[in-house]
Amino acid sequence: MDSVTESLRELHARIGALSGGEVASYIPKLAQADPDDFGIALTSMAGRRYQAGKSDTLFTIQSVSKPFVYALALSDLGPEEMLRRVGAEPSGEAFNAISLEPGTGRPANPMVNAGAVATTALVKAADPAARSARILDRLSAFAGRRLDYDEEVYASEAASGDRNRALAYLMRSAGSLEDDPYSVTDTYFRQCSVRVTAADLAVMAATLATGGRNPVTGERVVAQDVAVRTLAIMATCGMYDGAGQWLLNVGLPAKSGVAGGLIAVSPGRFGVALYSPPLDAEGNSVRGVAALTEMSERFALHLMQVPVHLTATVTDTVDAARSSRARDPERAAALDRDPRRIVVVGAQGDLEFTETEQLLNAVEEAVPAEPGGLVLDLTAVTVITAGPATMLSATLADLERQGHRVAVAVQEPFLAQADGHPGAWLRTRDDAVAWCEEQFLADTDTDGPADA
Ligand code: GLU
Repeated sequence: MDSVTESLRELHARIGALSGGEVASYIPKLAQADPDDFGIALTSMAGRRYQAGKSDTLFTIQSVSKPFVYALALSDLGPEEMLRRVGAEPSGEAFNAISLEPGTGRPANPMVNAGAVATTALVKAADPAARSARILDRLSAFAGRRLDYDEEVYASEAASGDRNRALAYLMRSAGSLEDDPYSVTDTYFRQCSVRVTAADLAVMAATLATGGRNPVTGERVVAQDVAVRTLAIMATCGMYDGAGQWLLNVGLPAKSGVAGGLIAVSPGRFGVALYSPPLDAEGNSVRGVAALTEMSERFALHLMQVPVHLTATVTDTVDAARSSRARDPERAAALDRDPRRIVVVGAQGDLEFTETEQLLNAVEEAVPAEPGGLVLDLTAVTVITAGPATMLSATLADLERQGHRVAVAVQEPFLAQADGHPGAWLRTRDDAVAWCEEQFLADTDTDGPADA
């Protein structure tokens, strides 16, 4: 058995012994859930799926649908319009609270019921049936399989959902809901009655963890900025009135639902989901909270935790490099006589702020005071984010101003992005060193041993 499954099984066995909590009963059909059902599932960025316990048991998604439908509405409306219609402040109140902004009637956030109903209404569609179809289709894309409804739970909620209808009518009278309140809540009840397993929810969560691409099917379900904003809302508002304490203790974007589902997202690592129906006083799954609290500690997942840099950024520094080019004796001798040195600094991995700062410090230390050549070997660099790219460019431009010959060795796709950046961009370290040598030789040919 692989080590991830083993650790999920161990956690499942231990947390499974926990009792306490109440199965939700305000939707009558939910009261029939088996309080002993308990499943855990995790999907990695590579799309690998790990499971323990009853991770294939079907239950209704309920409020765990909210972040995904929010992501859909946000994709439709764009960030400004979305925020104008539904707020982003934790309400600190129960999920079914009447938390509307005085004056505008705008609901506090899309994770409480009022905001969720308003969000459902914002999903673009010609009519309510088309809206439900689009929501089911997108939830399915997040899950990577065709989902369906639990008709009994839907009927049970439709028969008992007057409080949610009342919220919708209040929003309509306050001007924050345009559609027919009865029909919108019906669409919302349908959305809540979608059937999932913990294994499905883990894939859905992992799709947010990758920044919007389903790691199992490869489909881009939402844009990266939509995934980021959705996670931010989950982090501040995802756990009902226990959201603050959750961020404190567990430190991950999460969302729970009254049927006992719970998802958490570790951005760039994995999506995890739990199913266990008994809920605590805040409405969150008792075993789900306990299991995730432990996982977060054990794997140091808390978002505010200082990131660990496992690999060194700077791989090597060469003081006086020469290329492998075969040169005629005269030119080789000219290079030997040239007092200028070509310094190489090699780097690897992802260049974010901290890594780039380390690299630029190494460059500063290695570059000679008098003009020479600098080769930045970035062929083993995998990612350069926008801010660090600007830091790199500024340093290279500065070195050129000081009279250094600057060359950068990079792989695709960076090579194609060389335009507008200072320095010569080449494919290998050897090519970059040879380019500096040729610049030295050209200087010698035209001006004699320039600067020497
Ligand atoms: N359908 C449920 C309701 O609106 C969802 C609530 C929840 O999961 O928090 O009451």
